[in-house]
Amino acid sequence: MLRVTRDRDGVVAVEMRRVVAGRALLPAYAYWVDGLLIDAGFRWVEGDLVAWARRQGVDRIVLTHHHEDHAGAAGALTEVLGCQVLAPPGSLEDLARPRPIELYRRVVWGRPRPVRAAPLGDTFRHGPFEFRVLPAPGHTADHVVFLETGRGWLFSGDVWLGRRVRYMNSKEEGQALLESLTRLAGLPVTTLYSGHRGPVGDGRQALADLASFLGDLRHKARQLAEQGVAVPVIARRLLGPEDAMAWITRGAISKANLIRGLLG
Ligand SMILES: [Zn+2]
Repeated sequence: MLRVTRDRDGVVAVEMRRVVAGRALLPAYAYWVDGLLIDAGFRWVEGDLVAWARRQGVDRIVLTHHHEDHAGAAGALTEVLGCQVLAPPGSLEDLARPRPIELYRRVVWGRPRPVRAAPLGDTFRHGPFEFRVLPAPGHTADHVVFLETGRGWLFSGDVWLGRRVRYMNSKEEGQALLESLTRLAGLPVTTLYSGHRGPVGDGRQALADLASFLGDLRHKARQLAEQGVAVPVIARRLLGPEDAMAWITRGAISKANLIRGLLG
């Protein structure tokens, strides 16, 4: 299921969800501006996304990282539209030969198609737009974000998923994510275009809010860890008990992983 909206700056947000038994699962977002598609959806929506992209016109795709909910439909899009795909140098191998993913990811997003991408440099132009490609490791090591320098738009992939987060994937590096967020919060960001939360108007404040939340959480977690409190207990005290997220993902995404990631 696709829901397409255009903001007053002309940036088109494509909200994509898999629908199972009448229920819409978690959303992922791709963004379109002037023929440039930023992130490229996932396997379960690729038919709808290709049909939309043919009507809309896409002449280039750029990816923030290799995950299946951002790159999973890039292969189908480039095959049908013949457009170029650009990705961070660290993503190219995973994009060309996707690794196996856990069951919950196959259910929500589907297995990604392999895609051949060319490496992004530090900047690129698209029509009247000038983008800086900024490394933002933490969620994954290869993650980058795109800052449109004239307008302050930041396309942030999975770096920002809310002003507060309660979970983290076991493969994420919390310390690196906090450093990335702190750096990005120092940039003149206007609108933040999140990979799962849609556009956020006060982008710089939103980045600063999450950085401050995680910094505070790390501080409290360190104090408890120094007293010898175990990670699962710290997680329960600071974030409440584990819930359906840990159960559905068989522990891959949990509150304890967030604490573990922040303690490094
Ligand atoms: Zn991701």
